[in-house]
Amino acid sequence: MDARFCPRCGQALQVLPLNGQSRPRCTAADCGYVHWDNPLPVVAAIVEMDDAVILARNRDWPEKMYGLITGFLEKAESPEDAVLREVWEELGLRATAAHFIGYYPFFAQNQLILAFHVPATGDIVLGEELAAIKRVPIERLQAWNFGTGLAVRDWLATRLLL
Ligand SMILES: [Zn+2]
Repeated sequence: MDARFCPRCGQALQVLPLNGQSRPRCTAADCGYVHWDNPLPVVAAIVEMDDAVILARNRDWPEKMYGLITGFLEKAESPEDAVLREVWEELGLRATAAHFIGYYPFFAQNQLILAFHVPATGDIVLGEELAAIKRVPIERLQAWNFGTGLAVRDWLATRLLL
């Protein structure tokens, strides 16, 4: 959205304190719009296939950056259904189970990541959002210390307990 104008009535927004934080609020007396800027839920999948994890690079990411399969929820869609749909859309894999790992606040992106372990089989067909994938053997998988990497860290830790 354009941060300067009210999406409801078009009047200018002004940043004012409300409930302990500064928030853009509509200046029209009869509108009352507040831009709360609440975090957006994002589902993330650790896709496991043949003792490897599938990491993917989005089309608009730098050459060496790979991450988990992620996406937003559709309206009235459960997180489990959303993550299985994303795995289908981005990798062409019909996974049937999504095991919840945990939730991870990602303040830098104003997101709340809901992470799942998704075992999968089949032939990968890249979706239009992806430029490339790589298969990382689980014993060589290294977590990164932000965003979805924290889910990878926790998932790897639980595997050591098995
Ligand atoms: Zn307004």
